[in-house]
Amino acid sequence: MLIVLNMTTGLIIWCSEAITLAAVFLLAWWHDRRSPAYLMWALGFIVNAIGFALVAARGFIPDILSVEIGNAIALLGESAWIAGFRWLDKRKLEWSALLPPVIWLVGVSLPWVNDSFVNRIIVHDLAGAVGATLLACAVRPAEGRREQARGQLGFVFMALACLCFVSSVGMALFAPTQEEALIYRGYVALGDALFITVAVALMGKLLMERAERRWRAISITDTLTGVLNRRGLQDSYAILAGEGQRQPQKLAALLFDLDHFKTINDRYGHQTGDLVLIEFARIAHQFVPRGGAFGRMGGEEFVAFVPIDDQAQAEALAETIRADFCRVPLLAGRSLVPATVSIGVAIMPRDTVSWDRLVSSADRALYAAKRAGRNCIIVFDEMEIAKTVDAPPDTDGGELVPTLDDQIHALRRMGKLAGM
Ligand code: GH3
Ligand code: MG
Ligand code: MG
Repeated sequence: MLIVLNMTTGLIIWCSEAITLAAVFLLAWWHDRRSPAYLMWALGFIVNAIGFALVAARGFIPDILSVEIGNAIALLGESAWIAGFRWLDKRKLEWSALLPPVIWLVGVSLPWVNDSFVNRIIVHDLAGAVGATLLACAVRPAEGRREQARGQLGFVFMALACLCFVSSVGMALFAPTQEEALIYRGYVALGDALFITVAVALMGKLLMERAERRWRAISITDTLTGVLNRRGLQDSYAILAGEGQRQPQKLAALLFDLDHFKTINDRYGHQTGDLVLIEFARIAHQFVPRGGAFGRMGGEEFVAFVPIDDQAQAEALAETIRADFCRVPLLAGRSLVPATVSIGVAIMPRDTVSWDRLVSSADRALYAAKRAGRNCIIVFDEMEIAKTVDAPPDTDGGELVPTLDDQIHALRRMGKLAGM
């Protein structure tokens, strides 16, 4: 037995739900005015509610206002939702978003559609199917937009598109009477409303995931230079040194410290010092391979973690960065800022690597580079690191005192590099 749904009651219930959702999105926009997507979604629900209110008022207002214009306005709501998803991702709006109301208006301008209730439903469902497909496309995941809710939303919108399409094709194939069509349409409208309600819940999930991703990005980014901060470096290191990362077998830490940076600050001002830090981060970051990580440890110290096959790779990377930073002219007004960098490199096999040993070894190598005259690179390989493993712990707040051995190794390395 079929339960006949009262169309007008259903439409009024949907209108009140749409107005409630519009109010929620308006409040969200009020709270965060930089997100025009919320405003667009609110407008979508307002327009949708107005459209369906006109449809529900059929018999009380002229048919052209209720049927043609009412449904067109309701479908315009879908266009606004599509625009909202594009604005959310800062993408340009496209005219295709207007397809749902345009398909409807073109359809009802044909007399054989306008004169038949069943044909009007077919065209309306086709317009709805196109709108839902466009919504699924607008929300799809892409580079930089990887929230889990996007896939789920895309699935719900495609299910909605299928429901509208099946309803449209079903009506065309079975050519029901007006009474039967009204009953089937009632069920399809109930299905539409359920899918849209689930979609709104998933939109909330998408916004939460997006906010979480944004805060996480902020929490691991250095505000001055835009590269990873210490927390971000620790996270990246954990991934690079983690289980299952066995190829290449070695991990190199390149510790950078700008030379005589205090003098640069004193001579050219703190602001110029900041610009030098930004420029160094830009130069170094561009050379660090995709599989590695680069960030600021603090002050004028930076570090890069790079998986390598052999020592020459780490040396070549460090030398490229050192030489490029020397070469690129940095200007403070009309004067050239003489900025250089010293680099300490430590290399360890991935299966025995630890943050403390790798970074403190790179620190020792860096200290040796400073002692060797600055603007140079010193590399400590696995054997050299193994020798220092039993060295007494650092009690000096980070700066490690080099042993005589370190200095001999450093000078030997310098000679080797000079001969390269
Ligand atoms: P060395 O060659 O031995 O490394 O000498 P240095 O002068 O670079 O080293 P030192 O540790 O004496 O000085 C580091 C300076 O970096 C001191 C501090 O004021 C400056 N500094 C730290 N963070 C910032 C920053 O964010 N911006 C600017 N402009 N300066 C900073
Ligand atoms: Mg320093
Ligand atoms: Mg320094």
